[in-house]
Amino acid sequence: MAHDHPLTSVLGDGIVQIRLPMAGNPMRYVNGYLLEDDDGFTLVDCGWKADDVLEALNAGLREHGHTLADVRRLLITHVHFDHYGLAGTLMRAGVPMLAMHPKDWEAAQMHLTDPAAFDREADAWIARNGFSFEGEIEDELHHHRTELTKPTHLLEDGARVGRLGAMWTPGHTPGHLCFVDKVTGKILTGDHVLDPVTPHVGVWRDHRGDPLGAYERSLHAVAACGATGALPAHGEPFADVAGRVDELLAHHRHRERQILAALEVEPTSATGVARALPWRRRGDPFDRLPDMHRQFAVAETIAHLEHLRARGLVHREMDVTPIRYSVVEVPDRV
Ligand SMILES: [Zn+2]
Ligand SMILES: [Zn+2]
Repeated sequence: MAHDHPLTSVLGDGIVQIRLPMAGNPMRYVNGYLLEDDDGFTLVDCGWKADDVLEALNAGLREHGHTLADVRRLLITHVHFDHYGLAGTLMRAGVPMLAMHPKDWEAAQMHLTDPAAFDREADAWIARNGFSFEGEIEDELHHHRTELTKPTHLLEDGARVGRLGAMWTPGHTPGHLCFVDKVTGKILTGDHVLDPVTPHVGVWRDHRGDPLGAYERSLHAVAACGATGALPAHGEPFADVAGRVDELLAHHRHRERQILAALEVEPTSATGVARALPWRRRGDPFDRLPDMHRQFAVAETIAHLEHLRARGLVHREMDVTPIRYSVVEVPDRV
């Protein structure tokens, strides 16, 4: 697992960070945060469904003299498999409460009722946007690492659970939640604010609206909440929440300028735009990315294009194959 980090870290004020393994994934681990409350412990996020994750969670609890029976509540920042996959296992083991935002429960049902059909639809949508590939994407793996598990509670924006206050931060997923800890003033950011990773915001199907617009509004909300530090779901805790938010907003503005510049050359598909952009921190060309990364790259590019379109800066033609975007010509002001 995370070789240069211990399994757990005591963060003080009744908070323990448990690094749950993500075998084979470059992010290496997802953090489960254990918070002590008057009536027992709350766990925020639980890792994906695998034996090594359950073992790590049990070992992490044991290091601090606890067992799963002490966990009274499981809160989920969002239903991606690396945060929610193990929830069913933990509920069967006796954890009495599972809570998430209603929009992510909706998303979980949509993704996990028939995962293969959902993936086919996403593939078809990305293909309509100009990128299709030969052969299978080993996406199917994810479905073995999660299961549809019904929450016992749904948390709206502002809901209070013990020492934590839920903050609805849509964008990375429609029902993503951050949690503000009333004891320390720190914010558990899930995958909404990470460092140094740039959280993925993509459009994976039609009629998804403008998730990047929602994401940026959620970033502003987090910057304004006055948190004294971030406890992210991947990587390590950091202090300057507002500073990191500024970096992410600046990154998206820079990306947007690159996208408009690409579209000014000629109207093209989201894939055409993605081909004109540098990718990853090294600035790799699109065609050098693995197939699955290329799908993510196209979904991210669509999110940018839809954010531009929501503001009237870009036009979309749906009746051509692939779907084509162009810059809206703004008449010069006199
Ligand atoms: Zn996620
Ligand atoms: Zn994640």
